[in-house]
Amino acid sequence: MIIAANWKMNPPLAEAGTLVAAYAASSHDGVTRILFPPAPYLVQMAMRLDGSGIHLGGQDCHQATAGAHTGDVAASMLAACGADRVLLGHSERRQAHGESDALVAEKAATALSGGLSVMICVGETLEQREAGDAESVVIAQLDGSVPDSIRGEQLMLAYEPVWAIGTGKVAGVEDIAAMHAAIRSWLSGRGLADVPVLYGGSVKPDNADAIFAVENVDGALVGGASLKAEDFDAICAAAGRLVATR
Ligand code: PEP
Repeated sequence: MIIAANWKMNPPLAEAGTLVAAYAASSHDGVTRILFPPAPYLVQMAMRLDGSGIHLGGQDCHQATAGAHTGDVAASMLAACGADRVLLGHSERRQAHGESDALVAEKAATALSGGLSVMICVGETLEQREAGDAESVVIAQLDGSVPDSIRGEQLMLAYEPVWAIGTGKVAGVEDIAAMHAAIRSWLSGRGLADVPVLYGGSVKPDNADAIFAVENVDGALVGGASLKAEDFDAICAAAGRLVATR
């Protein structure tokens, strides 16, 4: 099981230190933890997480390796700051920055060549789900966003229904099961059957057990609840409980 914390553009640096110290103070057998902090925090988080086993990643990178790109961050810079992976194609970037599948694939290829692995996010809007298009939208995002040449160990996927992110709404377990099965089938067709598929969208301590019990759910990408040490730890504990039953 893999539990990833997406801090987005939070919290203030002083709180980040306390939060990450709490992360590092606990461990959960069979659970891999990943932290995606804001890029300016990476070096400090890397120092604080040293020896904790918690992986670090960037929340985005540019598709170019270097150059005149004011305000952007290169994959190699993330790696130099202690990251071993990067989150790409989060719906907040697809929506607020107009990122297309093709751009996400380009960024992924650059990240891989810079020595990072990638976690690529996909997910449908409420409109698309209500129109019955959720699965075709997600499969099209996978077709367009995942580079052809990627190897299994370089990739994780996060299925995040856009309407469930930060809203407190969670997809029903049957819908999660159906989408994760479709994603697994897509992965198998690409020779990537073992790639972890995380669920994301308002995962909290009180719904984590039910979500983790769904077939083909290999963990969670957690936004809001990752900013509360106790909640994040409780979600990791739920993942650990599931691992213990296997
Ligand atoms: C996310 O940012 O990827 C996310 C799932 O956020 P939240 O858990 O707050 O819905």
